[in-house]
Amino acid sequence: MGNIALKISLLSIAFLLSALTVLLFYKNKIGKKWMLAIITSSFTAAITAVVLLSLLVEPQIKLNGSHLVRVPVFSTYEEKGCSVSVGGKDITDTVTVKSNVDTNIVGKYKVTYTVNYGKKTFTSVRTVLVEDKILPLIKLNGEEKITVSDMKFYKESGASAYDNYDGDISANIEITKRKINFDKYNVIYTVKDAAGNKTSLVREVEIKDIVKPVITLKNKETIYIDQGGQYTDYGATASDDMDGDLTEEIRVSGTVNTEILGSYNISYTVEDLSGNVTTVIRRVVVRVPEDPTQNRICLTFDDGPSKVTIQILDILKKNDIKATFFICDYSEDKLPIIQRIINEGHAIGIHGYSHDYAKIYKSEAAFMNNINKLHDKLLNDTGYDTNIMRFPGGSSNTVSEKYCKGIMKKLKVTVTDAGWRYFDWNVSSDDATGSISANAIYKSTISGLKKKRTNVVLMHDLGTKKTTADALQKIIDYANENSYSFWAIDDTIPQIVH
Ligand code: ZN
Repeated sequence: MGNIALKISLLSIAFLLSALTVLLFYKNKIGKKWMLAIITSSFTAAITAVVLLSLLVEPQIKLNGSHLVRVPVFSTYEEKGCSVSVGGKDITDTVTVKSNVDTNIVGKYKVTYTVNYGKKTFTSVRTVLVEDKILPLIKLNGEEKITVSDMKFYKESGASAYDNYDGDISANIEITKRKINFDKYNVIYTVKDAAGNKTSLVREVEIKDIVKPVITLKNKETIYIDQGGQYTDYGATASDDMDGDLTEEIRVSGTVNTEILGSYNISYTVEDLSGNVTTVIRRVVVRVPEDPTQNRICLTFDDGPSKVTIQILDILKKNDIKATFFICDYSEDKLPIIQRIINEGHAIGIHGYSHDYAKIYKSEAAFMNNINKLHDKLLNDTGYDTNIMRFPGGSSNTVSEKYCKGIMKKLKVTVTDAGWRYFDWNVSSDDATGSISANAIYKSTISGLKKKRTNVVLMHDLGTKKTTADALQKIIDYANENSYSFWAIDDTIPQIVH
């Protein structure tokens, strides 16, 4: 190329000129000062000329935009291109742009701009940095603010972290605890993504005693006392997770009048240092005492009135003894039988308007409604106001569990608190068993009888239980021969419960 030759010639002239100057200096034709000045200026002139020549005749690649471009990952890289001119002529359209930029992958990329001019190739390079600058996200498991009695009860529920580029980075979370003051901690969750972007999140933990103290009653939750007896409180103990033994702090309130039958509540209350209060109630039931000088029998007939009620009443009348009928709902035509029971001095107790376990043991309210409905009907029809009842299936039945869990435990308290005295039995005639003979009923009954107590005998007043009525006279005869006496249930009869 003439271009190159011209540049070499210019530099050669500068050399020759310098050599000539040095020669003249050694021949003492010029001074040192002159020699240096000539050399310097000749080279300066030659190099300047070479540079100017290059600018004029070599393609100049000028990038549009910066040589270093930063692009967020997953965004779009916009190629700004370049312009190329040579000797004032625009040859941009001859540029080849080569790029391997992948904005989906973090990294350093090159964009190469190439121009072929003459037999030479000219290139320029732009650097593109695809970067992850987005902070990862942290999400706490559980509440952002929690309260515990003590930091030792703090249970770490963790957190999860997600990064726009790295994905799930939960495993990289670092957890640190920092005490802020005596009742506050911060749990700090920090996570860094691969690009070094860091995110922190804080869970605030308040230290406050929120656990109630626990009261444990000494002896049973329900205490039975015979009327006229003495009630002594058994006491209780109390402890708290933070304050320890609080037994001394228990306040007891409530009184028991052992002269008056009924149910009494004694309450035990304790407060811990943080103001958490616990109250526990003990029931004290004052009941009729058993009279050991008496050999009592209370015959009880359930589920009537029925077709055999009259036969039963006739036998009772003939023997001049009183019994108790735990009745269910009755039709209008049975009202005279109900009236006869009352007129002849027997007791009537409530068994239930309905005997359907599924209905009556569905809820406490359903049960109370079932006994109150029959109580009110009886009162309305006859003026007879009864306060005794028998749970269908007895108070120890398990069938009710099927319809409402734990209902019997609640009902025994509820009916007592409502003023009812409920009776189970301590002698079974076994007449509920299929087709049992009168003799078998007789045998079952007399084998259950005991002296010096109140024997409450379970029998049934049902159209299908004629053998019960048939066995009755024999049972009465046995009792009379063995110095038992018959009683209808009233307030002087001790409550016989399972
Ligand atoms: Zn029944």
